Amino acid sequence: DQPVHIVGGGLAGSEAAWQLARAGVPVILHEMRGVHPTDAHETDRFAELVCSNSFRSDDATANAVGVLHEEMRRLGSLIMRCGDEAAVPAGSALAVDRDIFAGKVTAALEAEPLVEIRRERVERLPGAGDGQWIVATGPLTATPLAEDIAALTGVESLAFFDAIAPIVHRDSIDMDIAWMQSRWDKGDGKDYINCPLDRDQYEAFIDALLDGEKTVFKEWEENTPYFDGCMPIEVMAERGRDTLRFGPMKPVGLTNPATGKRAWAVIQLRQDNALGTLWNIVGFQTKLKYGEQTRIFRTIPGLEKAEFARLGGLHRNTFIKSPVLLDETLRLKARPNIRFAGQITGCEGYIESASVGLMAGLFAAAEARGLTPQRPPETTAHGALLSHITGGADAGTFQPMNVNFGLFPALEEKHHKKERKAKYAARALSHMDDWIGARAAA
Ligand code: FAD
Repeated sequence: DQPVHIVGGGLAGSEAAWQLARAGVPVILHEMRGVHPTDAHETDRFAELVCSNSFRSDDATANAVGVLHEEMRRLGSLIMRCGDEAAVPAGSALAVDRDIFAGKVTAALEAEPLVEIRRERVERLPGAGDGQWIVATGPLTATPLAEDIAALTGVESLAFFDAIAPIVHRDSIDMDIAWMQSRWDKGDGKDYINCPLDRDQYEAFIDALLDGEKTVFKEWEENTPYFDGCMPIEVMAERGRDTLRFGPMKPVGLTNPATGKRAWAVIQLRQDNALGTLWNIVGFQTKLKYGEQTRIFRTIPGLEKAEFARLGGLHRNTFIKSPVLLDETLRLKARPNIRFAGQITGCEGYIESASVGLMAGLFAAAEARGLTPQRPPETTAHGALLSHITGGADAGTFQPMNVNFGLFPALEEKHHKKERKAKYAARALSHMDDWIGARAAA
């Protein structure tokens, strides 16, 4: 059997290697740590956690990441098995002892006869005739390989920083205050959601941005150029009290239907996914701390009860424009013998990365055995995340995304808000069981 090559033994690469080996497909796992360190990792172990030791909520009855955990367990995930074995007390979250966790993942892969480990840095993408590959090199992909990816996909398709504006659940926006209108009524005239601020509200908002507590760049992030087009809003506010009013908060070309007038300043939200459930605040990338963002953004008229699918941020992060570059089973359209997996595909977080690695492993295993890879339904957490990164997200504003119920197709029936999460969760797990059953029968 031809081996499948995996580049990167992080969260995604380790899980992909495990799934392939379980399916009886040999793997060559190329990992550079041990020979070349990264700026964030401290060891040469597989699946090292670079920051927090939390896999976030483990509640599979009402939380999207908890559902992802449970689906992974049912799919025989190595990352979840080792995570459960290395768990430390953390309430309803799953947190792990990072040394025990990475030690267990490393031991499992080293003991697996179908996995050959090569400690080396891969400098270039493989050619079209070089067999099946999975690139899972993560947010800190080594520069020579990143440059080669950019050369194949186009420089504008590879980002070195995420500049994330907060994303709001559509159904939490107060449309009695906000209204739909495109600036100067362009497009179909109603493409944006607009939140009006009067002069006092604007001045208070600027004060809050200036006073709000910020996170700081890591020393090694400071030297990476990022400023073009993604300056944090608090930095704009520091440059002058009116900078935002002439930038992302400009009110021109918009008329508030409640007053018949132009507002002093306007915050605009743009649709962020094909389902229309998630909207991003245009131009609002920020390094404000999460708690501060929630507090300050809820002072915006219309967003008093906003629920955030994710908060803003700005970090060193290598990722590709997956919605246009990858096909349904994570293959690079321009070179289909290469799949991408993990954070480099534009998912965000340890577990999301591992879950996309799990899927890449299953797809590559099917292909190695001459079968057509099948995707889980969109109603599952895996299917929803895959759909988002491979097409559902807006390619123009694509930024890394955590799993959340806003990515799931709407429920068939209307439910009270309180029950909705439980219904999404139950539907996902039941559809995942059906999918696993159908795979076993095939
Ligand atoms: P990684 O786990 O980074 O694995 C990629 C692997 O590829 C690495 O082992 C690397 O050495 C290897 N590699 C890279 N290039 C090459 C090459 N050319 N040849 C061979 N090997 C190569 N997520 C959270 O959920 N919680 C957090 O608290 C959190 N904090 C973070 C802090 C920082 C500083 C960063 C950068 C990211 C953080 N993330 C966090 C995101 C986190 O990195 C990802 O969630 C997760 O590690 C990504 O998994 P991955 O497998 O895609 O990449």
